[in-house]
Amino acid sequence: MTISRRSLLQGLGLGVAASAVPSFGTLALAAPAAPAPVLHRFQIGDATVTALLDGHLAVPAQAFTGYDATKAEATLAGSFYRPGPQGLEIPVNGYLIEHGGALTLVDTGTAQLMGPDLGGLGAALAASGVAAADISTVLLTHMHPDHAGGLLAQDGSAAFPNAELAVAEAEWAFWHDDAIMAMVDEGSRGFFQMARDAVAPYQDRLKPFTGEADVAPGLSALPLPGHTPGHSGFLLDAGADQLLIWGDVVHSTALQFANPDWTIPFDVDQPLAAATRKAMFDRAASDALLVVGMHLDFPGLGRVARDGEAYAFHQAPWQFGL
Ligand SMILES: [Zn+2]
Repeated sequence: MTISRRSLLQGLGLGVAASAVPSFGTLALAAPAAPAPVLHRFQIGDATVTALLDGHLAVPAQAFTGYDATKAEATLAGSFYRPGPQGLEIPVNGYLIEHGGALTLVDTGTAQLMGPDLGGLGAALAASGVAAADISTVLLTHMHPDHAGGLLAQDGSAAFPNAELAVAEAEWAFWHDDAIMAMVDEGSRGFFQMARDAVAPYQDRLKPFTGEADVAPGLSALPLPGHTPGHSGFLLDAGADQLLIWGDVVHSTALQFANPDWTIPFDVDQPLAAATRKAMFDRAASDALLVVGMHLDFPGLGRVARDGEAYAFHQAPWQFGL
């Protein structure tokens, strides 16, 4: 089965011109080549957080709703960002949290769902010295394949055999809504099916949550709707420091801090996604919050600063010796 992202976008009624559709490549159920494990560990208060790189994909700047060539040029001028043949490359990250004697994984990468440039999160987790069987909770920011795909082992069983799965109730309901699934085109139905398949082995240890519920030791949920209906961040309270894991509030570090109104076509509710992003930028800047994100430049740890009417991302320095 192959599923094009174009058909997903059309199916979700996102009205994107064919030429502007991000070239995420074709989703295929082919086994990925084994990428070198990439990880980075940092200390947040009394928690240890390990950024795990799943891989990368490309998004053309023109794909963003609100794209303006002059603004894009000004944003990228003097930066290190160089669009590749398929656009600006962005990472797919997951985060392992060691806190309170528990191992919590936030998002799982793609596993074999999205081709050979992705699928490395499992190897990065193994390289960190943690076995999948030791993870006690998996938290999902949302149920897109680059976040939930890694729930499944290659044989279709649960990749995290002892983990509870925590997902926002609204997110679970959206992807399991037969009426919505029946309305979308065949390609989009594939995404619904992938989301359902990914969580199916965890039905008996599901922990649905609403609002700002406690979801794991030191971790509480934060609803960040727009990208998907139940898209959620997680706030880690680790004593001296806090960390906000904000999921897909940002897809392009290069473009969206400077242009917070620009939205990616995958946002199910684009105005709401933009409003959520601006609210989070404002809060993170006001509170000097440390943040990580699933598509922030790896390892994705930093702070948000105000920059005139817009914002900038200040990446934290590498932490050595952990
Ligand atoms: Zn994503």
